[in-house]
Amino acid sequence: MSVSLWDELLYNYQKRLVEHYKNPCVEYSLIIHNHGDRAGASIAHPHSQIMASAIIPSAIERELENSQKYFKRNDRCVFCDLVNDELKTKERLIFENEHFLATTAYAARFPFEVWVMPKSHQSDFVQMDKDARIQLGQIMGRVFASLDQKLKDPDYNFYIHTAPPRQGDPSAYYHWHIEILPRLTDMGGYELGTADFIDVVSPEKAALFLKN
Ligand SMILES: [Zn+2]
Ligand SMILES: [Zn+2]
Repeated sequence: MSVSLWDELLYNYQKRLVEHYKNPCVEYSLIIHNHGDRAGASIAHPHSQIMASAIIPSAIERELENSQKYFKRNDRCVFCDLVNDELKTKERLIFENEHFLATTAYAARFPFEVWVMPKSHQSDFVQMDKDARIQLGQIMGRVFASLDQKLKDPDYNFYIHTAPPRQGDPSAYYHWHIEILPRLTDMGGYELGTADFIDVVSPEKAALFLKN
């Protein structure tokens, strides 16, 4: 996809989120993108979906609670610390530009799990301006070109985690991000029985493979 098409897609995500949150029943709205059978895609062509719910989903609640705890303890955003650490060590860094970085996840659930984060602190995906959208489009394009070439068009999910508008004010401690999950392996009994994941490819090796 071209950068201008990414920009258009990301802008539409922003507009749909704004519309959803005008409805007072909506506590959380999640943008997802599923590709392929293994990713549970319900339609064959590339598509995104937006799912509104009257509750905060448990994964988001956990991120909000724990990033708030980290902020209280350290007076810093945990995601900003993560970004700075990844930029310093470069062990999991795949791509970066002025405003964004893409890294394999430090505690990845799936082989080649990639997180894309803004380098500067921002809690709400909707606040991203056009200049940043173009840069995000460049990074997303590079990540998906790499996944496509290196992993031969894998099935995948990605979704956007952003601050909910009606849960206090998480703007100081929450930092929006995109999680990209290639679906090369299935969840087994251990994953289902514990909700903990065994990743068979180290994130450091996965980053080397994707960036070269
Ligand atoms: Zn931050
Ligand atoms: Zn997240």
